[in-house]
Amino acid sequence: VAPGPLPGAAAATHCPYCALQCAQTLTATPGERLPVAVAGREFPTNRGGLCQKGWTSAEVLRASDRITTPLIRTADGGFREAGWDDALDLVAGRVRDLQAESGDDAVAVFGGGGLTNEKAYALGKFARLALGTRLIDYNGRFCMSSAAAASNRALGMDRGLAFPLADLGGADAVLVLGSNMGVTMPPFVQHLAGVRERGGLVVLDPRETVTAKLARDGAGVHLAAVPGSDMVVLLALLHIVLAEGLQDDAYLADRVEGLDDVRRSVAQWWPERAEAATGVPADTLREVARLLAAASPSRGGRGAYILTGRGVEQMAQGTDCVNAAINLALALGLIGREGSGYGPVTGQGNGQGGREHGQKSDQLPGYRMITDPAARAHVASVWGVDPAVIPGPGVPAVQLLSSLGTADGPRALLVHGSNVVVSAPNATAVEERLRALDLLVVCDLVPSETAMLADVVLPVTQWAEEDGTMTNLEGRIIRRRAAVAAPGEARSELWILRELAARLGCGALFSDDAETMFDEMARASAGGKADYSGITYARLDAGEELFWPCPASAPGESAHPGTPRPFLESFPTPSGRARMIAVAHRGPADDVRPGMATYLVTGRVLQHYQSGAQTRRVKELAQAQPEAFVEMHPLLAERYGLTEGAVAFLATARGEAMARVRLTTDIRTDTVFMPFHWAGAGSANRLTNDVTDPTSSMPEFKVTAVEIRAAHRL
Ligand code: SF4
Repeated sequence: VAPGPLPGAAAATHCPYCALQCAQTLTATPGERLPVAVAGREFPTNRGGLCQKGWTSAEVLRASDRITTPLIRTADGGFREAGWDDALDLVAGRVRDLQAESGDDAVAVFGGGGLTNEKAYALGKFARLALGTRLIDYNGRFCMSSAAAASNRALGMDRGLAFPLADLGGADAVLVLGSNMGVTMPPFVQHLAGVRERGGLVVLDPRETVTAKLARDGAGVHLAAVPGSDMVVLLALLHIVLAEGLQDDAYLADRVEGLDDVRRSVAQWWPERAEAATGVPADTLREVARLLAAASPSRGGRGAYILTGRGVEQMAQGTDCVNAAINLALALGLIGREGSGYGPVTGQGNGQGGREHGQKSDQLPGYRMITDPAARAHVASVWGVDPAVIPGPGVPAVQLLSSLGTADGPRALLVHGSNVVVSAPNATAVEERLRALDLLVVCDLVPSETAMLADVVLPVTQWAEEDGTMTNLEGRIIRRRAAVAAPGEARSELWILRELAARLGCGALFSDDAETMFDEMARASAGGKADYSGITYARLDAGEELFWPCPASAPGESAHPGTPRPFLESFPTPSGRARMIAVAHRGPADDVRPGMATYLVTGRVLQHYQSGAQTRRVKELAQAQPEAFVEMHPLLAERYGLTEGAVAFLATARGEAMARVRLTTDIRTDTVFMPFHWAGAGSANRLTNDVTDPTSSMPEFKVTAVEIRAAHRL
């Protein structure tokens, strides 16, 4: 940690929030830590633009309740300020005692998709080597896991969009499935301007969101399907493509396998049957299928893209739903061609990099499976340990959280970069499990709801105070650069992990220098799918645009240029072909049937990010969106005796919440929407379902059967 304000005064870095990772220039005040001025910076993704969250991001640096010293829980339930040695000795001592009593898996680790690549890598290594536990997972399980699993099984690799964002600009059609980027990442929509002008933007969402309005106003299409029926829409679109002979036969013969099984799996979803299940008119489904086909290169179009977001991914059938989207893209010959493609619109700032470097329960750095003997041998050689030392796979996030403090579960949890009390599904149960632990340690920069439950809180640096790298939604590696010093005693998580590791007997295996950890991570990734071994800080700082895979070059060879579009030649599957996966619609786990129940869907508002721990502390954002709300159609509100501004009481099988009503005609009459940025009575995730997808372990955030009635007051 630098001892004072950095002399350079201006740093070229990127926004601390979402996966678009808009480029910023931070300018510090000479001789002072604050204030820091934020300006948008020209970059291929944001083209100089920032959203309201981005240009107010420096306000978090001056949050009045910023944690600046370690805090230790006192006997009366409060906290006392402590020195670092006190806090770290306490944590290491308790960890050793609990593991001596109950085994290595008595201690678990929970990471985050906002951590830098270096921190994500160090955290996975720390869990496996310093703690010797197999129990590590992270909040990216709630974010991208089903899209990642679907891409891995269909395309052999999960590389986010797998094309530069600017490629979207030339397409004739873009099908957006369950993403509202017009609100969640506004600079993104610049890349949709061309397709919108050409009338080719199609948006699937139960609400007429800002993004859906862009489609409608541009003579595109908004598909307001019944929540949870998205997969039927996709099965029907593929049914129409195949029935009308719109598929790309030459591409399918050359580059794809599995068509016959998929053809059988969509046979039952003729348009009129799909209309009954989804509420989308059969003729509209035909219109969209023909629009996508006409845009495909095989039929002379300029290209088409299919994008998925959390709206279709956060389901107990999320992986299958994304595979249905990929099947459609493959049938139309879109993937592995310049100017067309499929990709998930990643949410968290380092959602992509966060799942590549080993903080996932089943993975080692390089996006390798922890059960693969060759992967274990390679990573062990980089770590300088015997492969047998590396524990086996752990359990995914929901299962990990629900096991905390149980008879056979972990007795201690170390949390980094996550506010699970607000962001996890069935949040009330999660809070109960955290309270049942013998030891909860939370690294955070502000007193988040999760930090407030901790036995020890360790204050960490935030984005403007640290160096590192992130991997954005395109699979592009970008540099984060420090502009100011950290306040008080706040320290980088790399420093904290090294200090804890030292107390646990292996401090020499860790470094608090970001570039040192990056170089080691790159070596550990060599030969894996997410190969960073040809990337260095020097190349990034020289302004090279580097997308993984980017393997190290042999001596005498020129440096690998990176891979912006990885599937152009072949797919990284055993056959080199993409796989169509036959999937069947199962429907939501909750008993939500058309006409029988009210559906709760959740999402974000422009002003807040994830659990809101940071953005709720920015005055301008908090004033614009001060509290939770429930959005509903006036016809539905009338049924429940509710009016604009009235308080609604909401209940599901998991829990209860209360929020003020906002009336809008931009939502289905059987659906209500709640943003998930708030804790307490307004917590949407007290209502959501923690049932998980069998393939990816993604929870079903997006479809919940909810009971509603009027309440007297909040
Ligand atoms: Fe860009 Fe996302 Fe930051 Fe907004 S929150 S400025 S869209 S990176």
